[in-house]
Order: sequence, then structure tokens, then C-alpha cells
Amino acid sequence: MSTITASTEQQVVDAVEKRLYIGGEWRAATGGRTLAVEDPSTGETICEVADATPEDAKAALDAAVAVQAEWAAHPPRERGEILRRAFETIQERADELAVLMTLEMGKPVAESKAEISYASEFFRWFAEEAVRIEGRYAVAPNGQGRLLVMKQPVGPSLMITPWNFPMAMGTRKIGPAVAAGCTMVMKPAQQTPLSMLALAQILEEAGLPGGVLNVITSSSSGSVMGPLIADPRARKLSFTGSTEVGRKLIEQSAQNILRVSMELGGNAPFLVFDDADLDDAVDGAMIAKMRNIGEACTAANRFHVAAPLAEAFAEKMADRMKQLRLGRGTDEGVQVGPLIDDNQRQKVQELVEDAIRKGAKPLVGGQPANGRGYFYEPTVLASVPRDAKLLREEIFGPVAPIVAFDSEDEAIAAANDTEYGLVAYLYTGDLKRALRVVEGLETGMVGLNQGIVSNPAAPFGGVKQSGYGREGGHEGIDEYLETKYVAVNL
Ligand code: NAP
Repeated sequence: MSTITASTEQQVVDAVEKRLYIGGEWRAATGGRTLAVEDPSTGETICEVADATPEDAKAALDAAVAVQAEWAAHPPRERGEILRRAFETIQERADELAVLMTLEMGKPVAESKAEISYASEFFRWFAEEAVRIEGRYAVAPNGQGRLLVMKQPVGPSLMITPWNFPMAMGTRKIGPAVAAGCTMVMKPAQQTPLSMLALAQILEEAGLPGGVLNVITSSSSGSVMGPLIADPRARKLSFTGSTEVGRKLIEQSAQNILRVSMELGGNAPFLVFDDADLDDAVDGAMIAKMRNIGEACTAANRFHVAAPLAEAFAEKMADRMKQLRLGRGTDEGVQVGPLIDDNQRQKVQELVEDAIRKGAKPLVGGQPANGRGYFYEPTVLASVPRDAKLLREEIFGPVAPIVAFDSEDEAIAAANDTEYGLVAYLYTGDLKRALRVVEGLETGMVGLNQGIVSNPAAPFGGVKQSGYGREGGHEGIDEYLETKYVAVNL
């Protein structure tokens, strides 16, 4: 990839709508307020987008409610075709969309392109699922009467997404909702609204009827979404974000008994057993750690390595980390972008300092990078003590803490010693051990001899405080379907 010019950057920003998308119309926020979108590699403002008020949010739900019945009756094949067309447009425009995403989120353009491809695949997958919503017809056990079971759309759904994957976290909610026949109010993260606005434009072009998807960008997420969560016309809340905010939203949703899907935080362990291929494990570890600059809920947060391999693993990781090129994501050859903001960078720094104070040995990195933007040096910490905070808290940065273990039982216990349960990674050459360990891990997903699990055809989600519900796979559409049973008298 060659360096993207300033005029290309300006063109992609200019091409995006900056207003709210409500009832099929683009409109300014009530009162004309706007919020600034910042480039995390420079700290400069890229542009301003509409800053929705609670009134705008209510208008968005009104629009979603108004077309729900009509949308539910729309032929499933046509709902699928809309997703399919949007999938194709995203693929065609991947280059521009990637630049846009990099500008607002920071990751290198190549990684933005990978996210865009992943994001679009949810539309292709759910285009195919739209026509496979099935029920059943059965003879009652006593032979008298019949049981008819049918699936119907849940209804108007509220969606809230985080900044770390600005498009994919949207498509994996919008895709199944469109396929199932639900209307939506979507609120993207205030730091990365542009990718979602571009996505809404693409869906509009693909023929999504007005009111089915409504997008509100806002700097006051609590005050715009709170009243919608309490509104009895809303039927579902699908949230991706931190466990802390998710917990609050579950409480709020309880008042209205909303169907809830929660994709929350993680603290993924990466286990390397002494029978693993060390180079393969290091390759997988680099992906699991460095994808998205470490700002992924699936990021390997801690590396538990069999004692005989721990030193060699740490050295190889340090060698690989040293070679990574840090810089603005639109510059040629850059592999690591900035963190999202200064708060995030300070949090990473505090966690690293705590570990070093308690005895961890930095092999590479260990501090923020100099200059503009929120860059942090890729870091490897060896011999990390068990009481270091970064073994318990989500780091969300390019920091790899390494801890040695002596036995399989110790490795499993260490892996499970967390309130989170999203994903774990496991490297071993022994199939029996692999299955034993997989069964012992308290997570919703496991990467077995691979450092990435995300796949639109698979059910993504966690257990424990990583949330509940699944996105993707056959399970993904169930989150947007209700089951109705009809007792038939024959
Ligand atoms: P966050 O602070 O929880 O924010 C997520 C979203 O919730 C944003 O749109 C935010 O809006 C909104 N929000 C915050 N407070 C709210 C409130 N009181 N009412 C309604 N909405 C509210 O999380 P984040 O920092 O953006 O994202 C990082 C977190 O997401 C990490 O913990 C990561 O593990 C998790 N994550 C999980 C998954 C998964 O699938 N399990 C995937 C990706 C990320 P504002 O932007 O206005 O604050």
C-alpha cells in the first residue's frame, strides 16, 4: 500500500453523510448541535457529525415502530437481496471505506480493509439465512391435536456499538435484524460514527426501505438511549461494549423486560503447551495480540507458556514486536496505529507500570511513543507476577505479558481465573490434550492452534461476565426471532 494523500483523505470524508438517518431521511440534530470526530494519530478534528438529542432518538424509534409490521411482511428473499447488494457495494468500495475507518479509529489501512471484508461477510451470510427461517409442525404426543411452532421477528431493536470495530460490530447486528424482519435504531460509538454513517448510505442505496434502519450519532449516549430502553415499543437491546456499561444496560432493560444480547469485555488467555510448535505459536500469538493494535475483545490478554518454552517464546515475541512499524495508519508500511485516545493510553501505561513495579521484566517497549497522537510502543513483559493487574484487567493495547506454568491443570486453572469468558487460545500438538483443555476452558470460544476465531459463519459470544447471546452463525438470527407456538385442535 502506498501512503494515502491528504486529498484522498478529504474526498472520503466529504463523501460521508454527517447527519442523522431517521425514517429514510438525512437530517440535522434538533438545535443543530454537532460533535467532533478526531483522528487518534494526530489528535486533530476530521469533521463534525450531528449530535442527536433525546428528541431525535425518539423520532428514530417512532420511525422504526412505524414500519415494523410492513417490514416483517416483506418477502424474506427480498430482505436477503438487499443485504446481498450491500455486501457487494461494501466490497467494491473497500478501499475508500478502509481509509475512512483508519482516519477515525487509527488502525493501519490494511487492517481496516480486513475488518471491512469481515464486516461485509455478515451481510452475505445473513442474506443466505433470511430464507432459512423455519418452524415445525408436529403431532401432539397424545395424538390429539397438532403443535405448530413458528418464528417471527422480535420487533424494533435498539443497537449500541463500540469504537474498536466500527463497521463489523454494526453489520453483525444489522445483518441478522434485516434478515429476520426487525427494524432498528442504531447508535454507534461517538469516537467512530463515520463508518456507520457510510454503512447506512450503502444500505439505503441497496434498497433498504426508509425507517428500517435509523442511525443516531450522539455525544450523550446515556441520555439519548435511556428513554428508548424504557420505551415499551422497543423489544430488544443488542449491545457490544464494556462489561461495566453492559451491566448498567441490563439493569435498565430489566424494567422493560427487553430481549437482550450482550457482547462484553474479555481477558483472553493464550496457552502454549510444551508439545506445541513454538514458531506456529508465536505466529498465532502475534495475530491474537496485535490485531487491531490489541484493542479487541478477543485480544490475547495474557500468555501462559509451559515453563520449558517460556523464555524462548518471550524472546521470539520480543524479536517480532521490535520489528513492527508504528505510525499513522494511512502511511505506507505502518503495522501498528495509535490507541483510540489518551485515556486508553494512560490506562495501558498504568497497567504496565504496575506489572514492572511488581517484578515483570520488559523485553521490549514499556512506554508511550513520543510525538503527536496516542501511540504506545509494542511491549513484551516476561516473568509477570500473578498479582499484576494486567492479568485480570482488559489491557486493550499492544502489550504481551508472559507467565510460565508447570502443569496442564495449572494452565487451565490460570486460564479460568478471571470473571471474563469470551475466548481462549490454545497451542498443542497433542489432540487428546487439546480436547481435554478445550472442555475445561470456561469461555464461549476457543482458538485451537490458531490466533483468530472471528468468522461470520460461527457463533461469536461469551460466558461469565463477557455476556450472553451469539452473533454470526445459525445462532445469530435467533437473537432477532421470537418463537410462537400454536395449539391446533384437529
Ligand atoms: P463502552 O464504553 O462500553 O461503549 C460502548 C458503546 O456504549 C458506545 O457506543 C458508547 O457510547 C455506549 N454507551 C456508553 N455508556 C452508555 C450508556 N450509559 N447508555 C447507552 N450507551 C452507552 O465500550 P468501548 O470502550 O466503546 O468499547 C470497548 C469495549 O467493548 C471493550 O470492553 C471490549 O472488550 C468490548 N467489545 C466487546 C466485543 C464482543 O463482541 N464481546 C466486541 C468489541 C468490543 P459513547 O461512544 O458515546 O461512549
